[in-house]
Amino acid sequence: MTSAGRFAPSPSGELHVGNLRTAILAWLFARSTGRRFLMRVEDLDRSRAGAESEQLRDLAAIGVNWDGGVVRQTERGTLYTAAIARLAAADLTYECFCTRREIQEAPSAPHAPQGAYPGTCRNLAAAEREEKRAVRPAALRLRSAVTAATVQDLLHGSYTGVVDDFVLRRNDGVTAYNLAVVVDDAAQGIDQVVRGDDLLPSTPRQAYLAGLLNMPVPEYAHVPLVLNANGARLAKRDGAVTLADLAASGVPVGRVRDAVLASLGLPPGPLENALAVFDPAVLPKEPWVWTGLGGSGA
Ligand code: GLU
Repeated sequence: MTSAGRFAPSPSGELHVGNLRTAILAWLFARSTGRRFLMRVEDLDRSRAGAESEQLRDLAAIGVNWDGGVVRQTERGTLYTAAIARLAAADLTYECFCTRREIQEAPSAPHAPQGAYPGTCRNLAAAEREEKRAVRPAALRLRSAVTAATVQDLLHGSYTGVVDDFVLRRNDGVTAYNLAVVVDDAAQGIDQVVRGDDLLPSTPRQAYLAGLLNMPVPEYAHVPLVLNANGARLAKRDGAVTLADLAASGVPVGRVRDAVLASLGLPPGPLENALAVFDPAVLPKEPWVWTGLGGSGA
């Protein structure tokens, strides 16, 4: 399988300029290294009817093209089930009956990193599990042998973060993001993952899981997010931040694309212009602060 990069949006709403900027970066990283570029819709959770087609339309409008068809996680359940079965066969999973609240209130194990699952259900006896199953359905957790792992990132260098007994399948039966992303990236031949740096803390978990499943760990580049004028992560409520809103206020898509490219120190026009000079080594390492784009009447 030839190597590939990807963009993996969650169809929960329209993409804003921050998401579009990440997509452009993922495209530039992949295309500049001769990789294929794949589009995967992460619709296991938080999906809103119509959002997928809006997102794909906006990506195409801004010049992000992809190879092959769109892959949807809701169509890939058998792959996830097979991966979980392999882990279970190696005794690397266990049922967890904790509520969010119980996890928050549990005393954390000595030396356990902050935010790590406290291990409450790790060693339940069969009879205890039986009893708890009658009360609420179980989530499935990874039985991790480590508490941290280190990954290499093209922008962040060596990064060490928590690996705990994270959830593989939620108690409503939905495959957890950390499992799906690892299985999909491997199955699709994705060997380069470019995404927002809010996901960097999850990456050691994913790399560790890939190792357990004998799947290759991709190359990672976690790119800075776009912030609003108050320094918070850009969101829909920050005004005209989607292509549709910007178009309605008189800003055509080409201007949005050019503003994103300028924020990356890249030339305006079709993405091919940026591709010709793209150099990850000189990308800005700081978040981009979005202060809006004046429309024709503004
Ligand atoms: N679906 C995730 C998101 O939209 C991205 C996951 C990834 O790129 O690994 O935040």
